[in-house]
Amino acid sequence: MAYQQLKEELIAFSKEIGIEKIGFASAEPFSDLKSRLEEQQTLGYASGFEKGTNEERTEPKRLMPQAESIIAIALAYPTRIKNDPKSVKGDRRGMFCRASWGTDYHLVLQEKLDQLASFLQEKVEDFQYSSMVDTGGELSDRAVAERAGIGFSGKNTLIISPEYGSYIYLGEMITNLPFPPDQPLTDGCGTCTKCIDACPTGALVEPGRLNAQQCLAYLTTTKGFMPEEHRDKLGNFIYGYETCQVVCPYNKGIDFHHHPEFEPDPDLVKPRLVDLLAISNREFKEKFGKMAGSWRGKKPLQRNAILALGHYKEVAALDTLIDVMNQDPRPVIRGTAAWAIAKIGEERGFEAIRGAKGHENNAEVIEEMNKGLEMEILSH
Ligand code: SF4
Repeated sequence: MAYQQLKEELIAFSKEIGIEKIGFASAEPFSDLKSRLEEQQTLGYASGFEKGTNEERTEPKRLMPQAESIIAIALAYPTRIKNDPKSVKGDRRGMFCRASWGTDYHLVLQEKLDQLASFLQEKVEDFQYSSMVDTGGELSDRAVAERAGIGFSGKNTLIISPEYGSYIYLGEMITNLPFPPDQPLTDGCGTCTKCIDACPTGALVEPGRLNAQQCLAYLTTTKGFMPEEHRDKLGNFIYGYETCQVVCPYNKGIDFHHHPEFEPDPDLVKPRLVDLLAISNREFKEKFGKMAGSWRGKKPLQRNAILALGHYKEVAALDTLIDVMNQDPRPVIRGTAAWAIAKIGEERGFEAIRGAKGHENNAEVIEEMNKGLEMEILSH
């Protein structure tokens, strides 16, 4: 079998089906990554969302004993919204990060990988493969993409393609076919440190090392209280955060609209914050269920929507927030509402906190209410 020729045929097919970048890597262990993962875990920098053991994540043959190569793919996603609805006083809107726009990329990439697999199945009798996207698989998308020459690994830990910046989704397929590998790209960051300097929480602790526990993108997906010191830093982001991408010179002017699946619906990716607080489970599933940003359910998004209303000091949302503080069955939501009411700073808001404290039983919520009432004292 002439694998170079098959590789060229597969590259041509990948273009036909709209894959922007494809690269080929060996299936040798990712030894450097293994020691980095161990360090991340020792330092407490891991997110906890990673799948598999460190061995499974760095040794492709553990996932597929016949592994010979890994095919990496990248799809570019848009960065600008047509008819962008403005978030204005009295009608504030939240923001999903760009990587959550359109249909969940896991589904779109998996379909592309399935098409590649079907193509190879027709050409090679004993073709075997295992494909994966993001946390749906054990391998590190970024380590594979870097080795396969899709892009270089930036100081912000993201894969940066010279053509598409870091606004790309990654997926990969382990195969039993010995495709000739591509060459990794050389580091393109040079002396730039814009992403490290711009990160509001210092989560990029050194070039190429992220403390996920401090990363605002990760924190938007947690289900407990947002750490107090980070509450005001999210702005109107309710899912994800992307300052380390926005400031990157490689992303300047990047905005590809190649895939209709990734086109953002303005009312979904920038939803009205107050509407989000009243949404039923069923309505949430119907409206947001196909977006990547819905994977943790509605509670983190509602908590973040409340934080955004506090950030904006949105007086028009005060009555809604007071209702939420008094009536929502979830302590995180009631307590966060108390914080936002205090941030807004209206006298009747503080009165409402005092009233609600009289019938509140949850210790964490009472603590949030006390913090809110301290804000009142500080404001005088
Ligand atoms: Fe590299 Fe600068 Fe982009 Fe950070 S902002 S990833 S340092 S080029």
